[in-house]
Amino acid sequence: MKSTEIREKFLKFFESKGHTIVRSSPLVPGNDPTMLLTNSGMVQFKDVFLGLDTRPYKRATTVQRCVRAGGKHNDLENVGYTARHHTFFEMLGNFSFGDYFKRDAIHFAWELLTKVYNLPAEKLTITVYFEDDEAYGIWANEIGVPTERIIRIGDNKGARYASDNFWQMADTGPCGPCTEIFYDHGPEIWGGPPGSPEEDGDRFIEIWNLVFMQFNRDEAGVLTPLPKPSIDTGMGLERLAAVLQHVHSNYEIDLFQNLIRAAARETGATDLANNSLKVIADHIRAASFMIVDGIIPSSEGHGYVLRRIIRRALRHGHKLGQTKPFFYKLVDDLDIEMGAAYPELHEAKQRVMQTLKAEEERFGETLEHGMKILEAQLAKDPKNLDGATAFTLYDTYGFPLDLTADICRERGVKLDEEGFAAAMEQQKKTARAAGKFKMAANVEYSGEKTTFVGYDALAHNSRVL
Ligand code: ATP
Ligand code: MG
Ligand code: MG
Ligand code: MG
Repeated sequence: MKSTEIREKFLKFFESKGHTIVRSSPLVPGNDPTMLLTNSGMVQFKDVFLGLDTRPYKRATTVQRCVRAGGKHNDLENVGYTARHHTFFEMLGNFSFGDYFKRDAIHFAWELLTKVYNLPAEKLTITVYFEDDEAYGIWANEIGVPTERIIRIGDNKGARYASDNFWQMADTGPCGPCTEIFYDHGPEIWGGPPGSPEEDGDRFIEIWNLVFMQFNRDEAGVLTPLPKPSIDTGMGLERLAAVLQHVHSNYEIDLFQNLIRAAARETGATDLANNSLKVIADHIRAASFMIVDGIIPSSEGHGYVLRRIIRRALRHGHKLGQTKPFFYKLVDDLDIEMGAAYPELHEAKQRVMQTLKAEEERFGETLEHGMKILEAQLAKDPKNLDGATAFTLYDTYGFPLDLTADICRERGVKLDEEGFAAAMEQQKKTARAAGKFKMAANVEYSGEKTTFVGYDALAHNSRVL
């Protein structure tokens, strides 16, 4: 089953259950300054859950574009390392705003998975929040899942409401206990059931999370009940596609294979299993959709998340031997894969390509120089990268720290992040002091005594202000 059909079946199913089909909102949340990028389907409905906004419907279903490359849910470091994480992905969701609750949510999910997508019931494992007897009972008694495949996930980290089966949008905002559905990709794949020491393997993959939205968490961490218990679910399209296409990794689904082939074409790589191709295929989606939604590469905020993603992709291209702009050429391929589902991508194609190309040209030369400096340093000490070099790469050559960290991780090099932070701090102080010195020299200063005692002393003397 192709991605297009999977999307359609999902929306049609929930429409048949009285849900209104709502379009994906943009990646930059319009209603929430606390959140940089939309990380899940519920973000556009946050105020509805909180009772601050109303909609003409009580049930909704969406296919939401999401980015998890920062903030509470950050998967940037997982890309290229796990079979299931992307920076950009599509989340299939159904929502109830004070309408149905646990029972219907669970029954709907089960019916869709086993009757519409025809997944074998015995391949599905369930987790529930450790003290949620109601959800446990519905799975065991109404759905009939054998109890050895229903796992209570507890607050094993010692903090109540902080466990994996208690979902939170962010540090503040709507939250609640959840129940999750995992698919067993089979004993030939390494990994164990949720809650086991091997759970991070790729055998049991979480496909769907049903959140019982019940609370709002404030800045002090206090939970206040929502006006009405509600439902928020999210299922990763790419993970479901992997299951339905009988492959074990998201990167093996149709859409990703096409993007990986395109990345190989543009970089000259010959081994399609190369991790760098996965990263590039992942990052072209995230970068393009962020630009579609109005973000441009810059040195802060949304723009810096975008820049980090693009530069990481370019570094992987460089690793594959491509030193010329190539990344922007993948936008055509992405358009073929996703332009029909997202007309906004198709319309913005030229703008996306121009933006990427400009960033490639900007970073191309410093990437080349920076890599030489890095290689020279690693030739001296192959196991450690000092903070000063990492800072020079950042400051002079435009290497975001996570890009340098990505290289270090690949090569088993220990990166001195504290040293980096110290170098950064030192530079800030020097810059501040230089600014103040100028001020002290040019402006009649009426505060404390401002005897010039040399740059170093100024850099350490915040009392000069
Ligand atoms: P995981 O434990 O695998 O990191 P999660 O628990 O963080 O997933 P949720 O926040 O529960 O994920 O999101 C709901 C669903 O969205 C998940 O069940 C999964 O199918 C999908 N999903 C989450 N993160 C990603 C990602 N980075 N890439 C692709 N799909 C994802
Ligand atoms: Mg996660
Ligand atoms: Mg999880
Ligand atoms: Mg989850």
